[in-house]
Amino acid sequence: MGRPKLIVIVVIDQFRGDYLNRDRVEFKGRGFRLFTEEGAWFTDCYFDYANTKTAPGHATIGTGAYTDGHGIEANDFWDASRSWDHKVSSVEDERYQLVDLPATAIPANQPGAPDTALKYVIGASPRNLRATTLGDELRLATNGRSRVYGISLKDRAAILPAGQAANGAFWIDNSSGQFTTSTYYMEHLPEWARAFNSSGRAAEAAREAMVEGTTQFYELVGRTPAANRYELDFAEALITGEKLGQNGVTDLVVVSLSANDIQGHQFGPDSDSEEQMILSLDRDLDAFNNWLDRTVGLQNVWLALSADHGIPPIPADAAKLGIDSAVVDLDQLYANLNAELNERYSPGKELQYILPGPDLPYIVLDRRAFEKAKVDEKAAEDAVAGLLSEAIVPPVPQPPPVTQAMLPPQTVLPPPAQHRLPPLPQLTGVYTRLELAHSQLPPSEWGRLLAHSYADHGNWYVMLVLGAYQMEDLHGSIGTTHFSPWSYDRHVPLAFYGAPFAPGEYHGRVAPVDMAATLASLAGINQPSAAVGRVLTEAIKPSYSAGAR
Ligand SMILES: [Zn+2]
Repeated sequence: MGRPKLIVIVVIDQFRGDYLNRDRVEFKGRGFRLFTEEGAWFTDCYFDYANTKTAPGHATIGTGAYTDGHGIEANDFWDASRSWDHKVSSVEDERYQLVDLPATAIPANQPGAPDTALKYVIGASPRNLRATTLGDELRLATNGRSRVYGISLKDRAAILPAGQAANGAFWIDNSSGQFTTSTYYMEHLPEWARAFNSSGRAAEAAREAMVEGTTQFYELVGRTPAANRYELDFAEALITGEKLGQNGVTDLVVVSLSANDIQGHQFGPDSDSEEQMILSLDRDLDAFNNWLDRTVGLQNVWLALSADHGIPPIPADAAKLGIDSAVVDLDQLYANLNAELNERYSPGKELQYILPGPDLPYIVLDRRAFEKAKVDEKAAEDAVAGLLSEAIVPPVPQPPPVTQAMLPPQTVLPPPAQHRLPPLPQLTGVYTRLELAHSQLPPSEWGRLLAHSYADHGNWYVMLVLGAYQMEDLHGSIGTTHFSPWSYDRHVPLAFYGAPFAPGEYHGRVAPVDMAATLASLAGINQPSAAVGRVLTEAIKPSYSAGAR
């Protein structure tokens, strides 16, 4: 046996752990079945943290660590050391620029830019990543002879799981669908990537998605199965172009498939389009795995499969079944918070004490406003936490907890409801940055999830946890979203295929951090610098040895 020529990690963006069971009987060939029938499949894999977003999820898969280890807590965050004007994305980096963009893609900060222009026109890099990845450790262990790449439609999902020492990370220009990268990695795209971009493949994907000629490739092609085929074709071009698996050492490619997330937010996990996406992806993975077999040879490859987070049902759908899936109007909540804080600290003024939202679970305070009012961090965060508790759960008229017979004669109880009442928002908890920083958390599994979600970018904040199946009111723009510590957001698949793995269905509770730990151990290298995962020894053949390098 020994080490493989190539490791391929497939990350499906927003793919809940139960999907593989749900559609299992429909799978054909060697797509998902390569993992579920011929590989080691862990059915009960849960992220052990509370901020289930795309950037932290991908960083976790790469580093085998949580936010308190890798430093990425959200897709975008306020970074006091970089800007008070705008949130920074987890990977944007003004020291670099994007590479070989098509002429049609005028960036948003230049005259004549279309509405669909790239949101982030500056370069990108893993600058916020505080830990090494499996790929970084492969590069270190081989003096850079191992070659490591990341691919996605999204910059963060290409960059973060690949790591700091990656040879390249490729993602798309949102309008045209052309692949690009950043000068952090290279001055120009490699010849094979330029050939792919000029091959008409993006136009073909748009035709498949029935949006020919679109300038919204990311939104309109990105939400269809055509985007998965497009990304996997680019992965084949990369493996061929860079001669991966032919270098006498182990190379690594991380492919993050974005389409499932883009459509999943819109239509929810229980829609027909979700099922079509899964079955199409099964066929596309079958084609990709067979291509790998014909070229590199599957006996020389290890494959791993997981996802960056799950997803809850659309709140109204869950509420119909009787689940307490209320929504909270965050804009209104922010306005109420600011009004209360002005009344308390700056009467008659309209200061903004809360910075415009990054996604939940974080609510970030504008420390400058509090400092002006001579309020320190503890008082400020405690004040916001206290106000949130009152603001989210509206007072509900309760019938008195006594029987009619015990009440004064003139009292009339409200009549009992004749149907189920609509769900109400519930507050499970509010935790301040100082509590997180000083480990003042419940000594429980719950406290551990919160502690794993801690990062510090110089701002004051609180973490807000709503009741299960509850979320912010998305105002119809999309159907559902993920962000919480609840099981449906944390449940993802974890599966391996390759010579060291004992095929089977494993029902023990595992976590995505175990992937990097396991692959590093099997490859005979150091685990990533902040890795906290467990080597999944139950799925390793007793006869396997990494052997001498
Ligand atoms: Zn995601």
